[in-house]
Amino acid sequence: MIVVFSGAGLSAESGIPTFRGAGGLWEGYKIEEVATPLGWMQNQKLVLDFYTQGFEKMQQCQPNAAHFAIAELANHFNVVCITQNIDTLLEKAGVKDVWHIHGRIDHEKCEWHFDIPPMYAQWQCNYKAQINKPVQWGDLCPKCGKHLRPDVVWFGEAVDMRVDDLYKIQSQVEVFIVVGTSAQVYPAANLLKFFQAVPTKYFIDPNPNYEVLDGFNVLEGKATEYLPALVESLKEELA
Ligand code: NAD
Repeated sequence: MIVVFSGAGLSAESGIPTFRGAGGLWEGYKIEEVATPLGWMQNQKLVLDFYTQGFEKMQQCQPNAAHFAIAELANHFNVVCITQNIDTLLEKAGVKDVWHIHGRIDHEKCEWHFDIPPMYAQWQCNYKAQINKPVQWGDLCPKCGKHLRPDVVWFGEAVDMRVDDLYKIQSQVEVFIVVGTSAQVYPAANLLKFFQAVPTKYFIDPNPNYEVLDGFNVLEGKATEYLPALVESLKEELA
């Protein structure tokens, strides 16, 4: 089994900017204003404007050679794709099953939908749905009437790491490929520790975070520069 763990850098060459190194701004917005529960409480309209722009941009963007290389890998091997990305470029490239641990731009949920233990279920609404247009100011949950919001995980919110599934696959993983992530956003970055014992590990990034690279083969460069060639060599080695 091969696990591919991706971050914003995978989609950078498709025209979707990463935000590290951009002075705490993402597409000109302050991250704390548009990607935190407090930002939502303070100005829902601003948050929805930001995600409307993101939705439209991400709909227009096309997968790049690195997304297609991952799809090719999944055609040949048992591949689990875990992504921090909220875009759906891996799906557009033909990857069937992607674990979106930070949510998806093309889904909405009730603002009262929380990842909390079942004992608190009376305080939440479990509405979630796929959408073909962004959530607008005034769109209300069809189930409980509270406001709708994008189905993305904001800073400070719980991340569904699919821990049960992770433990099921941990011992079967032969190759672990990490691409385009600063590995600074937790708990997602804990995956590098979780798969530490995997025999063959690659890290592809033009500016790799050397603090987390123990045991990795580091391919210092862009995703499109290294992933297609890596996939071809894995096809030969593992055939
Ligand atoms: P990040 O912005 O923290 O780091 C991006 C990493 O990508 C950096 O290490 C950078 O060196 C690298 N990179 C830049 N160009 C690259 C390229 N062409 N090829 C390979 N790597 C490249 O991103 P992160 O670690 O994913 O964490 C940021 C958070 O923001 C995540 O939660 C993510 O969901 C969210 N985000 C998502 C998107 C998206 O959905 N496409 C875009 C921006 C941010």
